Amino acid sequence: QVVNYAPFTLLPSAVPRALFEQAYADFNLLVDAISQNKEFLEQTLASTIKVDDFTARLFRIHTQVLEEGLAQSVFLGINRSDYMFDCGVGGTPALKQIEINTIAASFGGLTSRTAAVHGRVLKVLGKPEEASRLLTNNPSKGLAWGIAKAWELYGAPGAVVMFLVEEVQRNIFDQRCVENELWNRVGAAGGRVIRKRIRDVFEKGSLDDARRLYMEGQEVAVVYYREGYVPKNYDQQNWEARLLLERSRAVKCPDIATQLAGTKKVQQELSRPGTLERLLPGQAEAVARIRATFAGLYSLDMGEEGDKVAAAAIADPERFVLKPQREGGGNNLYGEELRQVLEKIRDSPERTSYILMDKIKPQPSMNYLLRAHSPLQVSECISELGIFGVYVRQGQELVMNRAAGHLLRTKATEHADGGVAAGVAVLDTPYLV
Ligand code: ADP
Ligand code: MG
Repeated sequence: QVVNYAPFTLLPSAVPRALFEQAYADFNLLVDAISQNKEFLEQTLASTIKVDDFTARLFRIHTQVLEEGLAQSVFLGINRSDYMFDCGVGGTPALKQIEINTIAASFGGLTSRTAAVHGRVLKVLGKPEEASRLLTNNPSKGLAWGIAKAWELYGAPGAVVMFLVEEVQRNIFDQRCVENELWNRVGAAGGRVIRKRIRDVFEKGSLDDARRLYMEGQEVAVVYYREGYVPKNYDQQNWEARLLLERSRAVKCPDIATQLAGTKKVQQELSRPGTLERLLPGQAEAVARIRATFAGLYSLDMGEEGDKVAAAAIADPERFVLKPQREGGGNNLYGEELRQVLEKIRDSPERTSYILMDKIKPQPSMNYLLRAHSPLQVSECISELGIFGVYVRQGQELVMNRAAGHLLRTKATEHADGGVAAGVAVLDTPYLV
């Protein structure tokens, strides 16, 4: 095994205070509402699941567990809504949502340490005043609070919290930060935290008559997914294990409906006039706050509207990003590649596995990106701000609903796509201006 430090910027990056505060808009209620709206998910994903096998398989499990009736009664959501600062035409920066992650939203752990790193750097540079202005930030604590609350409401003091992780784990320390916070809470109350793979669930997981989930004889109260969000995490056996997990009483973070709520197709449909109002009735203020962060999003469904959108993107690919229903960075298409792909599939239903989005163009700034084994050089950079949301629902009652902190990731402008895990972006700290 090789241990490297996580990549980070040498200096914190300037973030406009007003946009930072605006980013703390609340997406929890919206995600939770979508996850409980069977008809909305069905209608929204109807065209996508005809052509996208991964989304289709998730959707099939979703339908199957609803038909059987949910055994789960406590729900835990941990999400991260990501934004960029569009400099737009007028030159006034605007906050625009890139996407929301509803499964395996990561870096809440490592980012809990970056303010200390940047505070030190500023002090070394003789800037103690600036150092003292960096915000404290500890998402790992907030995430652990949510998991501990769900564990407590599940109501079996001897039961465990199970982290589901990949075989090869490049981001283990990020997970350990959350796990350590959790040991302080759940551990103190008699529970335990275990780390398993979906494969282990196939081999050793079982349900009893009340659909309680057991792993090697231990009851599982909460399942926290840090894998299971990309096709490569699944073979036939792992799909069977996923079905077993979803059928169980255990609190899944997220349950499969919430994972589906985080698809790019859902994001695109949310931007249609009237949709937010329908999902959040009587909450005009929340709707307005959420809508203000939406960039232009366009459906490529078959029909006149989709034809027009495809033609516009082919004519001017630099204005757009083409996104498939995938997570984890490095999947989107830009520029010439976008044009070529779209030209090939423009008359085929295959195009409905993608959505189209306006490209956000932030004002770049200069910084040093520090990465193990990479030469140190100054780069032109842009940043992406993520806000963590945590909520717990018991039946219809929301018992926890909070923002849990933020994450700033910065990358060189030469890369169009990709996060920290993809080896492109690095950890940063916002310096509010
Ligand atoms: P993923 O689920 O793979 O993380 P994202 O939608 O977050 O997908 O896109 C990955 C990366 O691509 C983002 O982190 C961002 O750097 C870039 N990106 C995505 N959408 C846009 C956009 N509309 N404008 C500019 N860059 C974008
Ligand atoms: Mg992303």
